[in-house]
Amino acid sequence: MVLSHLHHDHADGLPDLVGAPVFVSAAHWAAFGRPLQAALQGAVPAQWPVGFVPHILEPIGPPVGPWNKSYPITEDGRVVAVDTPGHVPGHISLLVRSDDATYLAAGDLTYDQDLLDAEITDGVNDDPHEAVESLRKVKEYARQVPLVVLPAHDPHAAHRLENAEVFVPS
Ligand SMILES: [Zn+2]
Repeated sequence: MVLSHLHHDHADGLPDLVGAPVFVSAAHWAAFGRPLQAALQGAVPAQWPVGFVPHILEPIGPPVGPWNKSYPITEDGRVVAVDTPGHVPGHISLLVRSDDATYLAAGDLTYDQDLLDAEITDGVNDDPHEAVESLRKVKEYARQVPLVVLPAHDPHAAHRLENAEVFVPS
């Protein structure tokens, strides 16, 4: 399980994932790793499994598109995470390279693809400038490879996933 971040609506199901390794970025755990810090930033650590400590992802992978580093997930390099901060510190998105397209599990990078295209950030941002930079990087990458963008809260994400519908930035 690779978590974009630990906000309550992304991490409250952790107790159901018994035995599954859970990964977050080092930068995110630095910001959310203490219960008070996490609670002040929109997480509910009381919902996490007792003694929860995630596996920490370090940005030790090679450049990917506009990102000058990446977080290797699988040995074959087909699954990597990249930095998409702004919503919260250390927010990451997951790239899954398939034969037909690359799929971006984008967490809370954006609420939906139209807002991404318009470079409009969502209402809750730790760093609005970083958030816009993250949106621009995803758009740049979408100009380089066929990219299916799957934000966590986008009502059309399931349809795009099913149909491998790529994002064409304006
Ligand atoms: Zn969030």
